[in-house]
Amino acid sequence: MRAQVLICPTITLRAYGHLCHTPRRLYRYGSSSQFLNLNLSCFSRRLLTSFFHMEFQSGAGSSGKKSMVENLKRYGVISSKRVAQVMEDLDRGLFLPAGSSAYVDTPVPIGYNATISAPHMHATCLQLLEDKLQPGMRALDVGSGTGYLTGCFALMVGAEGRVVGVDHIPELVDTSIKNIEKSVAASLLKKGSLSLHVGDGRKGWQEFAPYDAIHVGAAASEIPQPLLDQLKPGGRMVIPLGTYFQELKVIDKNEDGSIKAHTETSVRYVPLTSRDEQLGGF
Ligand code: SAH
Repeated sequence: MRAQVLICPTITLRAYGHLCHTPRRLYRYGSSSQFLNLNLSCFSRRLLTSFFHMEFQSGAGSSGKKSMVENLKRYGVISSKRVAQVMEDLDRGLFLPAGSSAYVDTPVPIGYNATISAPHMHATCLQLLEDKLQPGMRALDVGSGTGYLTGCFALMVGAEGRVVGVDHIPELVDTSIKNIEKSVAASLLKKGSLSLHVGDGRKGWQEFAPYDAIHVGAAASEIPQPLLDQLKPGGRMVIPLGTYFQELKVIDKNEDGSIKAHTETSVRYVPLTSRDEQLGGF
């Protein structure tokens, strides 16, 4: 079922999903099992508004990709040249189902009750992890979905680094590999500095641990212990926590192994759960 969220008097966002919230109001929509992956802070509403205008004005294609990054920079979501560069280099259009609006700031359903996150969420997570995505570093992407963010990580750490994506839906992992093969990250996949695997991401991926950066693309009720264990001292994890009300948490592991955490923003992600529960519609 489709629902509409009023963004501003002139712009309406069509959203798939049954629940989203703003700091002030709570809405419940229809019966669809798709969750939104949206941050509807006032700031984000301005950003979404801008992207909707952008799509009307500039359409799709490589100019759409460029304006997407320009808008993310203009609204302060992207402040780093490396993040801007990677989001321009890796074409988001290759990772979305055919016919989707690749450069509009909205999550898009990718099947199996999952979504590719909105560009501003990808940009936010890349910004938060940038220091831990330096050339030669190691990163784990839990709930890798389309493989877009995993590919961004791989381009940032380069051929000397190591990036692992894990998703529990085999079909999504197959598609993510095909997506990467079509992209500028293909050589990293071929050389083995990037790999995508089927598995329960709550267990992390021990083979290449410890990781400088861990990103979790689905909301957990609590931080899975294996992910904390696989985070390198000095490393950083970005993870959405919560059920209906979710917050994007930034977890830093100090050199002595102690943990420091802060909340970045309110978010809405699909749950980090079992495959059966996800395929059954949660
Ligand atoms: N970050 C990705 C996908 C986000 S959707 C992108 O932007 O393209 C969340 C993803 O988490 C889905 O692909 C879903 O299949 C996956 N997921 C949920 N629970 C999981 C688990 N326990 N282990 C691995 N993947 C999981």
